[in-house]
This record gives sequence, C-alpha cells and structure tokens, in this order.
Amino acid sequence: MIITMNPNARKEDIENVERLIEDFGYTVHPIHGTNLTVLAAVGDERGKEGLYDRLSSQHGVDKVEYILPPYKLVCREVRKGIERPDTVLKIQFDWKEGKGSVTLGGDELVVMAGPCSVESREQMMESARLCKESGAKILRGGAFKPRTSPYSFQGLEEDGLKLLAEARHEYGMPVITELMDAHHLELVDRYTDIIQIGARNMQNFMLLKALGSTKRPVLLKRGMSSTIDEWLMAAEYILSTGNNQVMLCERGIRTFETKYRNVLDLNAVPTLRKLTHLPVIADPSHGTGQADMVTPMALASVAAGAHSLMIEMHPDPAKAWSDGAQSLDGPQFAELMKKLKPVARAVNRTTPW
Ligand code: PEP
Ligand code: MN
Repeated sequence: MIITMNPNARKEDIENVERLIEDFGYTVHPIHGTNLTVLAAVGDERGKEGLYDRLSSQHGVDKVEYILPPYKLVCREVRKGIERPDTVLKIQFDWKEGKGSVTLGGDELVVMAGPCSVESREQMMESARLCKESGAKILRGGAFKPRTSPYSFQGLEEDGLKLLAEARHEYGMPVITELMDAHHLELVDRYTDIIQIGARNMQNFMLLKALGSTKRPVLLKRGMSSTIDEWLMAAEYILSTGNNQVMLCERGIRTFETKYRNVLDLNAVPTLRKLTHLPVIADPSHGTGQADMVTPMALASVAAGAHSLMIEMHPDPAKAWSDGAQSLDGPQFAELMKKLKPVARAVNRTTPW
C-alpha cells in the first residue's frame, strides 16, 4: 500500500502511521520529499483489509492506495507463470444423442443466442432450430424476467425452465437462463447449464454468495451503472465462495446519451482481458436496444477481443413478449453469423460454423 501523508503532518503522525503499518506485518519504506512524506507499506495485503480503513482515519494521512488490485482471485496476476493463464470453461450436458460439450474462453468464438423470454414450446423450439442452424452453440431464454414494470410479463418460471431443458435435449445446445433470487437457485440449477446473473443483480451480494453452493458456470452481467472495479469485485464474491466458473458479460451502461437504450462499453473488453483471466462476453442486444445496431456492434465486440457473444434472436420479433425491438429474426441472425467469420479470423479466433 502507498500512504501519502498530508504536507502538514507532524513527525509524530508519521511515526504513528509507521508503527501501525509494522503492527500489521508490513515493512515501511519512507520517502521524505521536500513538501510531504510518502510511506510504502510492503508485504502481502491479503486478509489485512482492516488496515486500509485504520490508515485512512489516522491523523495526517491524505490518501491510502492499494498496489495490487483488491480482487485477488479474478485478477490476471494470480495466474502468473501458468502456461495458459486464461480461464477456459467446459460446459458439459446431455441430450438425445448423448453427451455434448462447449468450450468457452479459448480460441473459438462461441455465440449464445435465443429469445429474451421463453414464451412457448413452439417459440423455443423454433428459436433453437434457427440458432443451431446458423452456428450458435448455446441457447438463451429468460424464465424469470427482471422487468421495470410489475405489470409486464414476468416469465414462465418453472414451465419456462422445462421448455429450455426440452430444447437442449432436442437440439444439443446447453442453455443459459437468469437467476434472480437465491431462493430459486436449486430450481434453476436443476434445469440450466449456465446461470445468468443480470445487470440489476450484479451487486446483490447475498445472491452472489449463494452461487458458491453450485459448481454451475455463472455469467455475470455488468450492472448498468457499475464501474469495472465494482464488477470485478462482484465476480470476486462468486470466486471467493468457491465457484470459479465465472464469465463476465458487458451489456451496456447508462450514460447521458439518449439515442439508444444503453451504451455498449467496448473499452471494457480489452480492459477486462488485461485485468482478469475470466472469459469476456459482449451482449450488443441489450447494449444497443436496437436490432439494426446489433450486427455492427457484435462485429466490433469480436474485434475488441470478446470470447463470446450473447445475441437476442426471436423467430418473430414483432410478436416478442419482451425486447422485440432489439431482437434479430432468423435471417438477420444467419447474416450476422456469416459476417462474423472474417472478423473472427482477423483476430485469430476460430468459428465452428
Ligand atoms: C436479459 O438477458 O434478457 C436481461 C434482462 O439482461 P440484462 O440483465 O443485461 O438487462
Ligand atoms: Mn432481454
């Protein structure tokens, strides 16, 4: 940690801070400038979070900063020296033709696609067929929906989960669906292959902690007003409770711009690739809110380094029960998948379709 003393700090203030640092097991390296003193506290910061607050409230202290990031399990440094440091998730599942698996976080570009909400058997089966036909590997669909209005469609709940499981069985695609409440963990876990934690729940810490009781991979969406550090700390909650199968999904943030639903923050993609070993996913559907913007922003996401994309696709977007305006139809989705190939190739990512 680096402790910057106030220019008016007295000699005994500096000595008190030095003593406190040593009491916590650090060695102090003071730098006495002409105007102020800076103290470098060198040592292992893990498990000593209390020191930060103690130091910040000491007389004569201006600023306390960590040298290492506070997210210890998700940061890239933790994998230093490992030959392939990036986390690669292997999603295994059963379907009518036997066992299947999808690898996410490696060289292959993985596309997750499907409707915003699970609406009916017909809609889900047709979605799965169209997604698979174009090369998507993972099927999405919300059974519990976080809606702004309590009067909007809230999801088919367990009936929706059953339809997802049926589509997996028929089409051989693992499924991803949102978990909104820790009370539903056991239920959702029974049907899904990947648990999605939505933007509105990114900092629902009890929910994040509950995920430690499953080994199921988790896709953690970015909160719409969350910083990268807050997002990584949210991921740290999941890893620290024992589940290290986590991926991060950029889905757009709130800014002053009102022209589109959200601003897909593509700066986040290379930033996360630099800071963490976890796979990075981009969701240009929620990130833009407009179907005609999904394809260009999907291409840009891959160019920026995303391992995977989440795309909302509906057989008939005009009739969708949620997020129809940002959903691609079958031909539009097929066209997107075609356009992705040369971009993926340009950044050394393979496309299995
Ligand atoms: C969704 O994936 O349909 C969804 C509600 O996402 P977000 O949490 O990003 O709004
Ligand atoms: Mn949606």
